[in-house]
Amino acid sequence: MNTNISGLHHVTALASDPQRNVDFYAGILGLRMVKKTINFDAPDVYHLYYGDEMGEPGTIMTFFPFPGIRGGRNGVGQVNTTSFSISLQSLDYWQERLKRFSIPFSNPQERFNGEISMYFQDFDGLGLELVVSDHDPRTGYLAPHIAPGHAIKGFYSVSMLEEGYEKTGAFMSRFLGYELIAEKGNRFRYSIKGKKAGFVDVVCSSDKARALGGNGTVHHLAFATYNDQQQLEIREKLLSGNVQVSQVMDRQYFHSIYFREPGGVLFEVATSDIGFHYDENVSELGESLKLPPWVEPNRTNIEKGLKPISVNTDSYKD
Ligand code: ZN
Repeated sequence: MNTNISGLHHVTALASDPQRNVDFYAGILGLRMVKKTINFDAPDVYHLYYGDEMGEPGTIMTFFPFPGIRGGRNGVGQVNTTSFSISLQSLDYWQERLKRFSIPFSNPQERFNGEISMYFQDFDGLGLELVVSDHDPRTGYLAPHIAPGHAIKGFYSVSMLEEGYEKTGAFMSRFLGYELIAEKGNRFRYSIKGKKAGFVDVVCSSDKARALGGNGTVHHLAFATYNDQQQLEIREKLLSGNVQVSQVMDRQYFHSIYFREPGGVLFEVATSDIGFHYDENVSELGESLKLPPWVEPNRTNIEKGLKPISVNTDSYKD
């Protein structure tokens, strides 16, 4: 199938305390903070990006930490689990590591053939998994405090909770090029043929209660397209299919369009040709607060309103 989508780009979720968020993702999970900026639509709140060394599409987990935000609720119309890929020989390592930092996790279980997954949650209750995959050639970020060979490599999949899979599946197929490649029980797995895309699982829920956005929930799921031209083609296709889609938004490190799939999950298509080294050297990614030019004149005020945060990997050494 001809598609302009190359796979997952990022997952954006809501959190409460920014420092605890840094401690969890950079500290315990050992992801690299590749950008420290603000929510462009709410400049009094951080936007924190974590990923591999460069923040490649398909590795990027991002957060809006709103101190004091109300708790969210899991339910249909939501990405309820984000799964990261690790090597088979890393499973024991991560069990030990999560234990050491008192993070409860489920017993690893086999889902599809040979696929072993282990569920846990971040400090705000966001659903995460580590999934064993020996077919993933990515190395992840070689963090100084994670034993060599055990780094989290990037996304393996995301799981969306839905009332049914048919409409969402048809939508992802028509507009994004995803095809149904496997199903088991109430789980339907989509991928893009010929691309190392990261799976999108649609999980049908018997409980019809809808998700409520808030702390510990995913805000939106972004797919990657290469450049502005490819993005415009997707936008045109969505419009001609009567899908409401936003204007192109300048997110500094990528350009974005937003729309909802039929089950209610907010989707984004983000370009991958700009990247996080756009305004920082690769060796310094995430070190200083970066602001878009139109907000830069307010830097002093914005910095005053943000609680300082830091990456303390020393406290999270093996
Ligand atoms: Zn986004």
